[in-house]
Amino acid sequence: MKIYTIGGYNEVGMNMTAVESNNEIVIFDMGYNMSRLVEYSHELEDLTTLEIVERGVIPDDSILKNNAHKVKAIVFGHAHLDHCGAIHKLIDSYQSKIVGTPYTLDIIKRIMKDNKKPIKNELVELNPKESLSLSNNLDLEFIHVTHSIPGTVLCHLNTPEGGFLYANDFKLDNEPTFGEKPDYSRIKKLAHSDLKAMVIDTTRIYDEKRCESESVTKLNLKHHIDMVFEEKGLVLITTFSSHIERLRNIIELNRKRREIVMLGRSLCEYVHPAVRRKYININGITLAWKRRSVESILEKVDKNRENYLIICTGNQGEPNSVLTRLAQGNYENLKLKKNDNVIFSCTTIPTPQNIENRAMLENKLKKLGVRYYKDVHSHGHIMREDHRDMIRMVKAENLIPAHGETERLASFASLAIEEGYEISKNVHISQNSKILNL
Ligand SMILES: [Zn+2]
Repeated sequence: MKIYTIGGYNEVGMNMTAVESNNEIVIFDMGYNMSRLVEYSHELEDLTTLEIVERGVIPDDSILKNNAHKVKAIVFGHAHLDHCGAIHKLIDSYQSKIVGTPYTLDIIKRIMKDNKKPIKNELVELNPKESLSLSNNLDLEFIHVTHSIPGTVLCHLNTPEGGFLYANDFKLDNEPTFGEKPDYSRIKKLAHSDLKAMVIDTTRIYDEKRCESESVTKLNLKHHIDMVFEEKGLVLITTFSSHIERLRNIIELNRKRREIVMLGRSLCEYVHPAVRRKYININGITLAWKRRSVESILEKVDKNRENYLIICTGNQGEPNSVLTRLAQGNYENLKLKKNDNVIFSCTTIPTPQNIENRAMLENKLKKLGVRYYKDVHSHGHIMREDHRDMIRMVKAENLIPAHGETERLASFASLAIEEGYEISKNVHISQNSKILNL
């Protein structure tokens, strides 16, 4: 079995891995490097794909160049942009089918449409607990897990040389507030199935604990919402637009006390398909992103501020988001002021750009006398002790940490060593554009 570690082995994000067995290849993920995407966003349209690769925005898949005909499928375990955002730039080299859960494919279709790219590849929906035959030798199975976007799965590929598990982004939440807990019985059976290798997400490997459940965050969020509703100002909450479980909780915790408006483009992009899949109910909620409609909604809100809850974009302080614009006084019809409250139901993703953007946003809010609450949030990624659980549960022959720079991958390796693995023998710290021969 050959593992092509294409992207996400020198950085957080830009995930792309391929597996080859018996001259057949399956690709997992084609993601953006999100901080580079922000850094180069103003010039991306003028750059060729090669130039975008050179700037480190998307994975360099040239290592597969002469083998594209061997590719049997491109598989996406979930729809975060650091896993699927680069599809429109890379897909032209491959004719194979694209496989994902229904919600993941909804988002992929939207990405292709936004980039004016027709989809030439066959799209195949696969649900958790289902399998798909990719060839005479390869079977793909999806296993349900929890994360921070609907439709997240572990991808289990069965090959004549043993199994391969792509476990890139998930958490082990035993008390999710939406959907089932992870399919532990299936995960544990992998230990008895000749599992040759596991690629695993290490973004939160430094946190020496288990990841907190979403139900803990829900309780924390309830406390914040109840307290700020006591003040007679406007209340704004911002979170990740793809975090449908969190958005459901915010709507539920409002308990119809205030009229909810959702404002911002990315909210529309993730909430609309979630409504169609019945993952979220937004009856009675106004959802808008175009400047004119946002202005007219804000005019209504301003007349009755204490009766509204605004859910909006801007959790990372993004310059074009609704929250940043509000803080800058860019809207004619509503100005933030004293007694208004902002709940950040998120953490700042620690890239220099995000840190700077958020600091600027918080400064503006402070100057306006707006009170804000940070980190009302739990992460969507397994942490160090979850990793230990996972290593023990699946008992993979080889471990390949991913979704991090060398330091993160090495930190995972030290944990694997504690669990009896040996560096370079059966736990492998790779780099982008390398091939591991197992
Ligand atoms: Zn993710």
